[in-house]
Amino acid sequence: MVLLGPPGAGKGTQAKIICDRIGVPHISTGDLLRKSVADRTPLGEKAEAYIKKGTLVPDGITLEMIAERLSTGGCADGFVLDGFPRTVPQAEGLKDCLERLHAPLDYVLFINVPRGTTTQRLGSRRTCKACDALYHLVFNPPARPDRCDSCGGELFQREDDRQETITARLDVYGRQTMPLVNYYRAQGLLREIDGVGKVEEIKDRVFQALEIEGS
Ligand code: AMP
Repeated sequence: MVLLGPPGAGKGTQAKIICDRIGVPHISTGDLLRKSVADRTPLGEKAEAYIKKGTLVPDGITLEMIAERLSTGGCADGFVLDGFPRTVPQAEGLKDCLERLHAPLDYVLFINVPRGTTTQRLGSRRTCKACDALYHLVFNPPARPDRCDSCGGELFQREDDRQETITARLDVYGRQTMPLVNYYRAQGLLREIDGVGKVEEIKDRVFQALEIEGS
């Protein structure tokens, strides 16, 4: 399945909950790209400037990365894509890739959150350096400041979670990614939930929309 929604919609948080529950891998192109940047790989070097500006890394790069990830094991029983696709050409590329793997897309879950809420969430977001766990300083604070509850790793503010870049990322979302809502709706794959509220409340809506038991 694909999780669709603006930056700050809670895709990463909900993806981790879904994946823990149903035991499939969580594939976040943002996490994969940040790791490539940190490891100074050739792909990371190409992607870094785009990420810093809050613009999209070229489709060819992300498509290649996803095709490789989906074919390297662990995905046979399903997977949750978070942050991919983000453009119509990426969605077309994903369709071809999934056809080759005989792994049709079951759902596209659209987490709908208004811009004011996402701006506020992104500014107070903190990420674990070690395990990518996500926190919000007010709504989902860690027990110890600057330390991850799950693994004790150091928490930091992503460079692109600063105010100037947040605006750019939300503009890019509106122009390049929003068209995917109608794209997937037209294919009958879209399920939409309201993404405003507490993590637990949104989790219940997600489980209900995906017909996962235990909501
Ligand atoms: P995210 O962690 O999903 O917010 O992604 C962080 C940044 O990584 C984005 O602002 C883009 O620069 C880049 N990125 C992540 N996923 C994609 C994608 N599917 N296509 C292009 N760029 C991406």
